[in-house]
Amino acid sequence: MRELRAYYDTPAGTAKAVDGVTLTVDPGERFGLVGESGSGKSTIAMAAMRLLRPPARIEGGQVWVGDVDMMGASEDEVRRLRLAKVALVAQGSINALNPVARVRAQLLDGARDHGVRFNRREADSFVADLLEQVGLHAEVANSFPHQLSGGMKQRVCIAIAVCLRPEVIIADEPTSALDVVVQRQVMESLRAVQASLGAAVLLIGHDIGLMAQVVHRLGVMYAGRLVEVCGIREACREPLHPYTRLLVGSVPNLTTKEDFGGIPGLPPSLVIDQPGCPFRERCPEAMERCATEAPVLRTVRPGRQVACHLY
Ligand code: SF4
Ligand code: MG
Repeated sequence: MRELRAYYDTPAGTAKAVDGVTLTVDPGERFGLVGESGSGKSTIAMAAMRLLRPPARIEGGQVWVGDVDMMGASEDEVRRLRLAKVALVAQGSINALNPVARVRAQLLDGARDHGVRFNRREADSFVADLLEQVGLHAEVANSFPHQLSGGMKQRVCIAIAVCLRPEVIIADEPTSALDVVVQRQVMESLRAVQASLGAAVLLIGHDIGLMAQVVHRLGVMYAGRLVEVCGIREACREPLHPYTRLLVGSVPNLTTKEDFGGIPGLPPSLVIDQPGCPFRERCPEAMERCATEAPVLRTVRPGRQVACHLY
């Protein structure tokens, strides 16, 4: 995506929820997007799928899926691309499963919407194959959502998302409702599916510790902007941006066993256009320049971009 901007019109003014985000996820790559709630992660996911609804709107930018720009494509074209080329496992999707439809029907729906026609035997093997891909038994097809555990429901949501073998999978907090052990299992399913498809994954979350086990590269969002992009190892070993440092420092198992207890302070209002670095109120290293001049995301080392005046 290039210079993606998504704004919300609020009674208090325009909130720049996503304020010029540029990033690339390669085929076969798992890219993690982290940041506090309200940093713009879910808005990026919805914008990329062209699913934002008022009061949210796309202000500008491009989201290329292969050689098609989702922002510039017609509604018809976008409908064709969704699921077939780019699929979203939306935040809270396990609660959006249809409670009165069996898993089988829900797995077939998306494909049918896209004009795929099955006879009974083809449908059976299509469903069994999808379930197997996410590590579920074929019998799950006959269940209703309430008969499944949270982890199983989340895998069903992943199976629905990949039913047409998309090139890009966007997964927004796919494990946030689950306990730690199940989180790992679901992540493993997602990883396995992605590997078999060779798809690009944009994984959205707030838990760097969990991300560290799954993604190749990491983008750190703050107040609607990317503040650091780098390999996950570098991010954990030597975070450069002060906000990334605080995020990494707040993960107990990456540094000490103590719980750091979050990052003090609040993110800035997205409505008021303030000069300078959006992180400066909370930044332990803020300098004079940070109050007047907004840092831009720049390559500071090979494969490493940071938006901070320290670099
Ligand atoms: Fe901190 Fe300044 Fe860097 Fe912003 S630009 S993160 S305030 S040091
Ligand atoms: Mg979110």
